[in-house]
Formats: sequence, structure tokens, C-alpha cells
Amino acid sequence: MTTETVLVINSGSSSIKYKMINLADGQAIASGIVEQIGEKESRIKHIHGSLEKKLTRSVRDHLEGMAVVEELFEQVGPPLEDSHVIGVGHRIVQGGPYFSGPAVIDQRVYELIQELCPLGPLHNPAHLKGIDAAKRILPDVPHVAVFDTAFFNQLPNKAATYALKQDVAEKYRIRRYGAHGTSHQYVSERVSSILGRKDLKQIVLHLGNGASASAVVCGKPLDTSMGLTPLQGLVMGGRTGDIDPATVFHLYREAGMSIDEIDDLFNKQSGMKGLTGHNDMREVWELVLSGDQNARTAMDIYQHRLLQYVGAYYAVMGGLDALTFTAGVGENDPWVRSELCESLAFLGVKIDLELNKEHFRREAIISTPDSSVKVLVVPTNEELAIAQQVRSLVK
Ligand code: ADP
Repeated sequence: MTTETVLVINSGSSSIKYKMINLADGQAIASGIVEQIGEKESRIKHIHGSLEKKLTRSVRDHLEGMAVVEELFEQVGPPLEDSHVIGVGHRIVQGGPYFSGPAVIDQRVYELIQELCPLGPLHNPAHLKGIDAAKRILPDVPHVAVFDTAFFNQLPNKAATYALKQDVAEKYRIRRYGAHGTSHQYVSERVSSILGRKDLKQIVLHLGNGASASAVVCGKPLDTSMGLTPLQGLVMGGRTGDIDPATVFHLYREAGMSIDEIDDLFNKQSGMKGLTGHNDMREVWELVLSGDQNARTAMDIYQHRLLQYVGAYYAVMGGLDALTFTAGVGENDPWVRSELCESLAFLGVKIDLELNKEHFRREAIISTPDSSVKVLVVPTNEELAIAQQVRSLVK
């Protein structure tokens, strides 16, 4: 193999996901996951071309996890030493106010990611473990941090600042950082390129298990729905999205719930799961189709919130040229797309309902030629975006 590659790593508290990206064609050469790290039995899967290997074995920590990954590259392929890895890209959720782009992880950057742990308590400590472990197996190439918040670090102050007492907000660095930034940036750039225009007013809807919306004007973010944390904004698989913060006081005082319990309730037990018992949209639709009224109401709540954000961003941007769907739901759920677009008919939005039926593995314009707004589906590819950002720094 002579092409250059980037190894992209997404390290969570009990998992390591990885993908080796071929920079020549953007395809994944190999990928895999180590799950349930620290439990009795960890599940491991590695894929290289048509070869797949699955293992269960005890993996005590991220260092051991990464050692297994190295072993699998050796056994199943491609061996790391023959893969021309020019750098390792680490997905980092919280870059706080410090990072508006990717950064080579030197001592200073490492310490800043560490310092930001209180703002990303579920993620940043796990990312640091991933960085330590990956440096062991690939010590001689640059390791680059690609922050989920970086794109939104350019938000205008009026969109990033909460109307919270200023000294408290400053002391505890409370502001809108956003999330899914790598995806919003990648997708909005693809839309500009597909439509051949840089001066677009765009809305990107990243609808996966986590979901977020962004308003992007001429390539720069003007607003986004996630906030200090990924909890704010749209209705998600398991998260409430927007909710009156006084609900926290109420549950604390009246239900005697602890802050950790409320955190779990809002982040994991709510959203579509809390409303219907299912966080997967396919299962919610099954209920709707079987005539379940409660599930239909949950879909209406999901749609109502989407419509509110699209309307707000339309107003904030003073117009809209392109509306784009991406991520698991955005790419695969024709009904979520068609219901939203139907509600936007008053703006002149029209989609081709035949075309919209597709489950998209490709980029497509699904609006009709006479639609006032271009509607697109663009599959997100965060790993490719991370690999490209690594290349931009390393080469
Ligand atoms: P995340 O990265 O946030 O975990 P994804 O972007 O992979 O999530 O999206 C996962 C979600 O996509 C699933 O929970 C499910 O709701 C939705 N999804 C996947 N395939 C389909 C489909 N065919 N129809 C409707 N929804 C789908």
C-alpha cells in the first residue's frame, strides 16, 4: 500500500471506536470498536475489507483496549507499520473557548483538554485516556485533536451568550459551545460545493440519536441549537432538548431527586425514549403505523421543535437558500423529512416525494426545481472530516 492514511479515534468512557481513512479516496480501509472496557467481558470488532474479526475478552482499560486494536491490525490487517499513517485524529467533544480549529496535541493542548474536563465531564477524561493509549501504539506520528465545538467557537456573541448574570457566567465559563460542529461544518461545506455557491444562507439538521440544528451564512455559523452541553435544543433519542431550567428546581424540591438523577433523566431517559419507550425512530414509526396515538403525539412534538428552530433560523438569517438533512434520521427517515417540508410549504419549500423515499447513501437535492429553498440530503462523514483536518495540519 502506498497511499497515506489517518487513524481516527473516538474514545468514550467505556469504548474506543476507530477508523483508518485512506486520504487518496476518503474511504475507510479498516474500522472497529472495543466496547464495555472495564467490564468482565469486553466486545471487540475489527473490519478490514471483507475480513471481520469479533472477540470477547477482558479489557481493563483504554491502554489494554488500544493494545488489542494494534494486535488486530497486525492479525487481520492492515499492519500499522505498513499503512503510511501520517497522523492520528482524536475526536474531542469539548474544546471550550480555546479552540476554533484542529490542534496538534502537545503538552499545552493536552493540558487545556484536561482543564476543560469540568465542561465535558462525560467526554474529555475519556478522550485523554484515548490519547495516552494511542500514543503508545503510534508514538512517532502527530496526534491531532479535532474539537466538536470548534466550528461554533466562531458564533457571534449574541448567539453564544446566555442572559445569565455576567460574573457567574464568566467565572464558570457558561456559554453556548454547541456540538456536532465537525458534522455541521463538513455538511455545510459539501452543500456549498454541490450548489456551487459560497454565499448561502443554510440550515443544517443533524438528526441522529443526538440531534442539532445550525444556521450557517457564507460558511460561518450564526446560531446552533446545542448549548453549554449537547442537552439543549431539538428533541433527541434520549435527551429532552429545550426544557424550562426551573424543572430542575422543581424535581429537586418536590421529587427529592439528586442532581445526578436529574442529569440522567434529562440526558438518557427522556426525548423519544421518555415519550414512547423507544429512542430509535424506526421503532417509534412502527408504533405510529400500528395506530399508537401516544407515539403519534411524540412525533408531533419532535416535528414541532424542528419547525420552531427552522423558523427561528430563517428569521435570524433573513432568508434561507438551503435546508439539509444529515445523520441517522436525517439520511434514512423519509417521513421526518416530508412532514417537516410539508409544514414549510408556506415558505415555498417543495420536495420530490418519490426521490425523498430513498435511504440516502449519497448526496442528493430532493427539492423540486420550483422550490424556493433547495432541500438536500448529505450523509455526514465525521471521520473523513477529521482525517482531512489532520492532513491540513500535518502536511
Ligand atoms: P448517533 O451518531 O447520534 O448515535 P446516528 O446518526 O447514527 O446517531 O443515528 C442513529 C439513529 O438514526 C437511530 O437511533 C435511529 O433513530 C435513526 N435511524 C437509523 N436508520 C433509520 C431508518 N432507516 N429510519 C429511521 N430512522 C433511522
